[in-house]
Amino acid sequence: MSLYQQCGLKFYFSYLGGWRESPTAALATGSIAHEVIEQIYRLPAQERTLETAIELLREHGGRMMRKPEYKPFESNNAVKVQIREAVENLFRLEDPVHVVVLPEHLEMELTVDINGVNFFGKVDRFTTDGINRVTDYKTGKSPGRYIDDKLAQPYLYALAFKTQLDIDIDEVELIFLNAQEIVRRPTDQAIMISMGEKLAVMHADSKQDVINSSWDARVQRLCDYCAFEKVCPARNPDAPVPGSPESDIVLLELGLSQR
Ligand code: SF4
Repeated sequence: MSLYQQCGLKFYFSYLGGWRESPTAALATGSIAHEVIEQIYRLPAQERTLETAIELLREHGGRMMRKPEYKPFESNNAVKVQIREAVENLFRLEDPVHVVVLPEHLEMELTVDINGVNFFGKVDRFTTDGINRVTDYKTGKSPGRYIDDKLAQPYLYALAFKTQLDIDIDEVELIFLNAQEIVRRPTDQAIMISMGEKLAVMHADSKQDVINSSWDARVQRLCDYCAFEKVCPARNPDAPVPGSPESDIVLLELGLSQR
Protein backbone atom coordinates (compact mmCIF):
# COMPACT_ATOMS: atom_id res chain seq x y z
CA MET A 1 0.00 0.00 0.00
CA SER A 2 2.78 2.41 0.90
CA LEU A 3 4.66 1.57 -2.30
CA TYR A 4 1.55 2.28 -4.39
CA GLN A 5 1.11 5.61 -2.62
CA GLN A 6 4.80 6.41 -3.15
CA CYS A 7 4.81 5.72 -6.89
CA GLY A 8 2.35 3.81 -9.09
CA LEU A 9 5.02 2.89 -11.65
CA LYS A 10 7.35 1.49 -9.00
CA PHE A 11 4.40 -0.54 -7.69
CA TYR A 12 3.81 -1.83 -11.23
CA PHE A 13 7.42 -2.98 -11.66
CA SER A 14 7.56 -4.57 -8.20
CA TYR A 15 4.18 -6.23 -7.82
CA LEU A 16 2.78 -6.71 -11.33
CA GLY A 17 6.06 -7.09 -13.18
CA GLY A 18 7.40 -9.18 -10.27
CA TRP A 19 10.86 -7.56 -10.35
CA ARG A 20 13.01 -8.05 -7.30
CA GLU A 21 16.10 -6.05 -6.39
CA SER A 22 19.12 -7.88 -5.04
CA PRO A 23 18.92 -7.88 -1.24
CA THR A 24 20.34 -4.69 0.23
CA ALA A 25 22.38 -4.28 3.41
CA ALA A 26 19.26 -2.84 5.07
CA LEU A 27 17.19 -5.88 4.11
CA ALA A 28 19.88 -8.29 5.32
CA THR A 29 20.12 -6.41 8.64
CA GLY A 30 16.35 -6.38 9.13
CA SER A 31 15.76 -10.02 8.21
CA ILE A 32 18.58 -11.41 10.34
CA ALA A 33 17.78 -9.22 13.37
CA HIS A 34 14.11 -10.29 13.14
CA GLU A 35 15.11 -13.96 13.03
CA VAL A 36 17.35 -13.68 16.09
CA ILE A 37 14.73 -11.75 18.09
CA GLU A 38 12.08 -14.32 17.21
CA GLN A 39 14.39 -17.04 18.53
CA ILE A 40 14.95 -15.05 21.76
CA TYR A 41 11.21 -14.88 22.39
CA ARG A 42 10.78 -18.59 21.64
CA LEU A 43 12.85 -19.31 24.76
CA PRO A 44 11.28 -19.67 28.22
CA ALA A 45 11.16 -16.17 29.78
CA GLN A 46 13.96 -16.73 32.34
CA GLU A 47 16.40 -17.81 29.62
CA ARG A 48 16.06 -14.58 27.61
CA THR A 49 19.32 -12.99 28.71
CA LEU A 50 21.69 -10.88 26.65
CA GLU A 51 24.33 -13.63 26.84
CA THR A 52 21.89 -16.17 25.39
CA ALA A 53 20.85 -13.64 22.76
CA ILE A 54 24.46 -13.25 21.63
CA GLU A 55 24.74 -17.05 21.36
CA LEU A 56 21.56 -17.09 19.26
CA LEU A 57 23.00 -14.30 17.16
CA ARG A 58 26.10 -16.40 16.43
CA GLU A 59 24.05 -19.49 15.62
CA HIS A 60 21.16 -18.00 13.61
CA GLY A 61 23.04 -14.98 12.28
CA GLY A 62 25.70 -17.32 10.87
CA ARG A 63 23.06 -19.63 9.41
CA MET A 64 21.15 -16.76 7.78
CA MET A 65 24.35 -15.23 6.39
CA ARG A 66 25.06 -18.47 4.55
CA LYS A 67 21.77 -18.24 2.65
CA PRO A 68 22.38 -17.32 -1.01
CA GLU A 69 20.49 -14.01 -0.72
CA TYR A 70 22.55 -12.78 2.27
CA LYS A 71 25.89 -14.38 1.38
CA PRO A 72 27.14 -11.13 -0.25
CA PHE A 73 27.02 -9.57 3.27
CA GLU A 74 28.88 -12.37 5.04
CA SER A 75 32.05 -10.27 5.27
CA ASN A 76 30.30 -6.92 5.62
CA ASN A 77 31.25 -5.67 9.06
CA ALA A 78 28.87 -2.69 8.95
CA VAL A 79 25.92 -5.09 8.51
CA LYS A 80 27.16 -7.32 11.34
CA VAL A 81 27.55 -4.32 13.65
CA GLN A 82 24.02 -3.12 12.82
CA ILE A 83 22.55 -6.56 13.55
CA ARG A 84 24.41 -6.87 16.85
CA GLU A 85 23.31 -3.35 17.83
CA ALA A 86 19.69 -4.22 17.05
CA VAL A 87 19.86 -7.29 19.30
CA GLU A 88 21.67 -5.47 22.13
CA ASN A 89 19.31 -2.51 21.94
CA LEU A 90 16.32 -4.80 22.41
CA PHE A 91 17.60 -5.32 25.96
CA ARG A 92 17.96 -1.55 26.46
CA LEU A 93 14.42 -0.91 25.25
CA GLU A 94 12.61 -3.68 27.13
CA ASP A 95 13.34 -6.56 29.45
CA PRO A 96 12.63 -9.70 27.41
CA VAL A 97 12.29 -11.72 30.64
CA HIS A 98 9.12 -9.76 31.44
CA VAL A 99 7.50 -9.90 28.01
CA VAL A 100 4.68 -12.44 28.13
CA VAL A 101 4.29 -14.00 24.71
CA LEU A 102 3.14 -17.35 23.40
CA PRO A 103 5.24 -19.07 20.68
CA GLU A 104 2.22 -19.14 18.35
CA HIS A 105 1.94 -15.36 18.71
CA LEU A 106 5.35 -14.78 17.11
CA GLU A 107 5.52 -14.18 13.36
CA MET A 108 1.77 -14.70 13.41
CA GLU A 109 0.17 -14.93 9.98
CA LEU A 110 -3.15 -13.27 9.25
CA THR A 111 -5.13 -13.81 6.06
CA VAL A 112 -8.45 -12.07 5.87
CA ASP A 113 -10.79 -10.23 3.56
CA ILE A 114 -10.79 -6.53 4.41
CA ASN A 115 -13.30 -4.48 2.44
CA GLY A 116 -13.03 -6.91 -0.49
CA VAL A 117 -9.21 -7.02 -0.42
CA ASN A 118 -7.42 -10.28 0.34
CA PHE A 119 -5.13 -9.03 3.11
CA PHE A 120 -2.10 -11.00 4.28
CA GLY A 121 0.06 -9.88 7.18
CA LYS A 122 2.82 -11.36 9.30
CA VAL A 123 2.81 -9.84 12.78
CA ASP A 124 6.16 -9.86 14.56
CA ARG A 125 4.59 -10.21 18.00
CA PHE A 126 1.15 -10.26 19.64
CA THR A 127 1.08 -9.97 23.44
CA THR A 128 -1.85 -10.25 25.81
CA ASP A 129 -0.44 -9.28 29.21
CA GLY A 130 -3.49 -7.26 30.29
CA ILE A 131 -3.28 -5.24 27.08
CA ASN A 132 -3.74 -6.72 23.63
CA ARG A 133 -0.82 -5.30 21.70
CA VAL A 134 0.63 -5.86 18.22
CA THR A 135 4.31 -5.08 17.90
CA ASP A 136 6.51 -4.65 14.86
CA TYR A 137 10.31 -4.31 15.03
CA LYS A 138 12.15 -1.93 12.73
CA THR A 139 15.87 -1.74 12.12
CA GLY A 140 15.84 1.45 10.05
CA LYS A 141 16.24 5.05 11.12
CA SER A 142 13.88 6.87 13.46
CA PRO A 143 10.81 7.82 11.38
CA GLY A 144 10.61 11.33 12.82
CA ARG A 145 7.70 13.19 11.26
CA TYR A 146 6.85 10.16 9.06
CA ILE A 147 5.73 8.12 12.06
CA ASP A 148 2.08 8.11 10.98
CA ASP A 149 3.06 6.39 7.71
CA LYS A 150 4.89 3.71 9.69
CA LEU A 151 1.91 3.19 11.99
CA ALA A 152 -0.33 2.31 9.04
CA GLN A 153 1.02 -1.26 9.09
CA PRO A 154 0.24 -2.12 12.75
CA TYR A 155 -3.13 -0.37 12.46
CA LEU A 156 -3.96 -2.66 9.52
CA TYR A 157 -2.87 -5.61 11.65
CA ALA A 158 -5.22 -4.43 14.39
CA LEU A 159 -8.05 -4.31 11.86
CA ALA A 160 -7.12 -7.80 10.61
CA PHE A 161 -7.17 -9.15 14.20
CA LYS A 162 -10.67 -7.73 14.67
CA THR A 163 -11.96 -8.93 11.30
CA GLN A 164 -10.41 -12.41 11.27
CA LEU A 165 -10.27 -13.34 14.96
CA ASP A 166 -12.70 -10.90 16.62
CA ILE A 167 -9.87 -9.77 18.92
CA ASP A 168 -9.76 -6.11 19.92
CA ILE A 169 -6.21 -4.74 19.83
CA ASP A 170 -5.77 -2.09 22.54
CA GLU A 171 -2.41 -0.77 21.47
CA VAL A 172 -0.09 -0.77 18.47
CA GLU A 173 3.65 -0.62 18.96
CA LEU A 174 6.71 -0.05 16.81
CA ILE A 175 10.13 -0.83 18.25
CA PHE A 176 12.89 0.97 16.36
CA LEU A 177 15.82 -1.15 17.48
CA ASN A 178 18.77 0.72 16.01
CA ALA A 179 17.22 4.12 16.67
CA GLN A 180 16.48 3.01 20.27
CA GLU A 181 12.94 4.27 20.20
CA ILE A 182 9.57 2.77 21.08
CA VAL A 183 6.37 4.26 19.68
CA ARG A 184 3.08 3.13 21.17
CA ARG A 185 -0.41 4.35 20.33
CA PRO A 186 -3.76 3.30 21.73
CA THR A 187 -5.75 1.74 18.92
CA ASP A 188 -7.91 4.47 17.51
CA GLN A 189 -11.02 2.91 15.92
CA ALA A 190 -11.39 5.78 13.47
CA ILE A 191 -7.78 5.46 12.24
CA MET A 192 -8.11 1.68 12.04
CA ILE A 193 -11.28 1.90 9.96
CA SER A 194 -9.81 4.59 7.75
CA MET A 195 -6.77 2.35 7.06
CA GLY A 196 -9.17 -0.38 5.87
CA GLU A 197 -10.91 2.15 3.63
CA LYS A 198 -7.59 3.38 2.22
CA LEU A 199 -6.66 -0.22 1.46
CA ALA A 200 -9.91 -0.67 -0.50
CA VAL A 201 -9.38 2.60 -2.42
CA MET A 202 -5.80 1.64 -3.27
CA HIS A 203 -6.98 -1.78 -4.43
CA ALA A 204 -9.69 -0.27 -6.65
CA ASP A 205 -7.25 2.31 -8.07
CA SER A 206 -4.62 -0.33 -8.82
CA LYS A 207 -7.24 -2.50 -10.56
CA GLN A 208 -8.19 0.51 -12.67
CA ASP A 209 -4.51 1.06 -13.50
CA VAL A 210 -4.35 -2.52 -14.78
CA ILE A 211 -7.46 -1.96 -16.94
CA ASN A 212 -6.00 1.29 -18.32
CA SER A 213 -2.44 -0.11 -18.59
CA SER A 214 -1.33 3.15 -17.01
CA TRP A 215 0.62 3.75 -13.81
CA ASP A 216 1.32 7.10 -12.24
CA ALA A 217 5.09 7.76 -12.07
CA ARG A 218 5.61 10.16 -9.16
CA VAL A 219 8.97 11.88 -9.48
CA GLN A 220 10.36 12.60 -6.01
CA ARG A 221 13.58 12.61 -4.02
CA LEU A 222 13.35 8.80 -3.54
CA CYS A 223 13.83 8.40 -7.32
CA ASP A 224 17.58 8.66 -6.67
CA TYR A 225 17.36 5.35 -4.79
CA CYS A 226 14.83 3.67 -7.08
CA ALA A 227 15.97 0.41 -8.72
CA PHE A 228 13.78 1.20 -11.76
CA GLU A 229 15.13 4.66 -12.49
CA LYS A 230 16.89 3.58 -15.71
CA VAL A 231 13.67 2.18 -17.15
CA CYS A 232 11.42 4.94 -15.86
CA PRO A 233 10.19 7.25 -18.65
CA ALA A 234 9.51 10.00 -16.09
CA ARG A 235 13.21 10.12 -15.17
CA ASN A 236 14.77 8.98 -18.41
CA PRO A 237 13.19 10.11 -21.72
CA ASP A 238 15.00 7.33 -23.62
CA ALA A 239 13.65 4.59 -21.37
CA PRO A 240 11.87 1.71 -23.14
CA VAL A 241 8.15 1.22 -22.55
CA PRO A 242 7.68 -0.35 -19.08
CA GLY A 243 6.83 -4.02 -19.43
CA SER A 244 8.34 -4.29 -22.95
CA PRO A 245 11.03 -6.91 -23.71
CA GLU A 246 13.54 -4.02 -24.06
CA SER A 247 12.70 -2.79 -20.56
CA ASP A 248 13.02 -6.34 -19.18
CA ILE A 249 16.46 -6.73 -20.76
CA VAL A 250 17.71 -3.53 -19.07
CA LEU A 251 16.39 -4.71 -15.69
CA LEU A 252 18.11 -8.08 -16.08
CA GLU A 253 21.35 -6.29 -16.99
CA LEU A 254 20.97 -4.21 -13.84
CA GLY A 255 20.95 -7.42 -11.82
CA LEU A 256 17.26 -7.55 -10.92
CA SER A 257 15.43 -10.87 -11.04
CA GLN A 258 11.84 -11.63 -11.92
CA ARG A 259 9.49 -13.87 -9.98
S1 SF4 B 1 12.32 6.64 -10.70
FE1 SF4 B 1 10.85 7.74 -9.45
S2 SF4 B 1 9.07 8.07 -10.77
FE2 SF4 B 1 10.32 6.47 -11.69
S3 SF4 B 1 9.49 4.53 -10.96
FE3 SF4 B 1 11.13 5.10 -9.56
S4 SF4 B 1 10.13 6.25 -7.91
FE4 SF4 B 1 8.71 6.17 -9.65
